[in-house]
Amino acid sequence: MTLMTPDQYEASLRKMKFKVYLQGELVKTPVDHPIIRPSMNSVKATYALAQDPQYEDLMTATSHLTGKKINRFCHLHQSTEDLVKKVKMQRLLGRTTASCFQRCVGMDALNALDSTTFEMDAACGTKYHDRFAKFLLAAQEGDWTIDGAMTDVKGDRGLPPSKQPDPDMFLHVVEKRADGIVVKGAKAHQTGCLNSHWILVMPTQTMTEEDKDYAVCFAIPADADGITYIYGRQSCDTRKLEGGDIDVGNKQYGGHEALMVFENVFVPWDNVFMCGEHAFSGMLVERFAGYHRQSYGGCKVGVGDVLIGAAALAADYNGAAKASHVKDKLIEMTHLNETLYACGISCSCEGHKTASGNYQIDLLLANVCKQNVTRMPYEIARLAEDIAGGLMVTMPSEKDFKNPEIGKVVEKYLQGIASVPTEHRMRVLRLIENITLGTAAVGYRTESMHGAGSPQAQRIMISRQGNLAEKKELAKAVAGIPATKASGKTPR
Ligand code: SF4
Ligand code: FE
Repeated sequence: MTLMTPDQYEASLRKMKFKVYLQGELVKTPVDHPIIRPSMNSVKATYALAQDPQYEDLMTATSHLTGKKINRFCHLHQSTEDLVKKVKMQRLLGRTTASCFQRCVGMDALNALDSTTFEMDAACGTKYHDRFAKFLLAAQEGDWTIDGAMTDVKGDRGLPPSKQPDPDMFLHVVEKRADGIVVKGAKAHQTGCLNSHWILVMPTQTMTEEDKDYAVCFAIPADADGITYIYGRQSCDTRKLEGGDIDVGNKQYGGHEALMVFENVFVPWDNVFMCGEHAFSGMLVERFAGYHRQSYGGCKVGVGDVLIGAAALAADYNGAAKASHVKDKLIEMTHLNETLYACGISCSCEGHKTASGNYQIDLLLANVCKQNVTRMPYEIARLAEDIAGGLMVTMPSEKDFKNPEIGKVVEKYLQGIASVPTEHRMRVLRLIENITLGTAAVGYRTESMHGAGSPQAQRIMISRQGNLAEKKELAKAVAGIPATKASGKTPR
């Protein structure tokens, strides 16, 4: 079963025994909870589209391990073409769900771990790569959804992990046993964790010798004993409890994050991929973040496509579509959105083969991609709100619209052009509200800022990768100033 059907995926989640709190209460069956279910539907779409022959080329790939057809989310990129297809697949899913579809985190973690464990073994004589390959094979055969858990809660940001007053501010090894390790700590804002079969836990930053108990990486079933989830609130989330389908803006799809708490969780050695090799923690973080910064050049662009379409519809529905400033704003939104896509594609085309054989994106361009994502979706959202008008946030509720007494009044006074039903106008304005201010704004706005690393993290990488010394030599050569040292690198 290398490709699960969407129904098989849902059934597989039902068998899991998650311990999850949402608004102070234990949730019995997460897939049936009205706040959680739309996020499950988004991941389900990654299974559904993989079954559709028209998307086969983007959604599936050939396993380099078995030669079987697998879901691209379980694939190790074998070429720059694979890297490009990954971004195109993410744009497709963003266009389909207008949400975070969550499954990319595991794909990015798998690819980062493959090359890092290989290089770590070569340098340290460890045996992590073979263990990881067994895990990868099982993931491909089972068509698992995997969450990648990186971000620790971090406590006092001015202190390293081992100097924190509370040692659990970074997830760490509390016991090493003959059969495995025991870990404690918490991972913050974990995307899609409750829609995942397994979690790949990684260190959150470069660790030093004194922090080596925090340089730990492992795989764990998402419902393992000792893991508790505390579900993250999203703006307007309780609209999903109201039972309607207009005010939610996007009834079918959504995303989720949760605080994931590990209370002395046992991990067998077979599933441990780093334990104390602190010198390789930075490599793993950098590579995972690089892949996920590439990812944003696909998923956010897909959601942007929906938002641009919604803004254009809003203008159509109120009769403003022919206004030159509206047309120009839609052009600007498209320009910004395609700029993000260009970054996602370019860092993929400029990728290279790693020592383990899979392909890595161009780190500088991936970081430029994500830095743009911290800005451009905000401007796209601003323009969408501009075109939508204030009604997007002052409109009466769906219940008023459906009320036998007042409904006709709402319908009459919210009418735009005569040929379009008021309900359609309400729906498209609620969709814009959902993406810019509601539940989907988690994925489209704040996650654009902080997901895959906050803006400063990209600026550090851009400064490291930008090769300023080489650029100075180029300037000297052109200006007739003697070179101070030979530039060993080919200019970009
Ligand atoms: Fe995928 Fe984008 Fe969500 Fe990350 S933010 S998991 S890349 S959809
Ligand atoms: Fe993300």
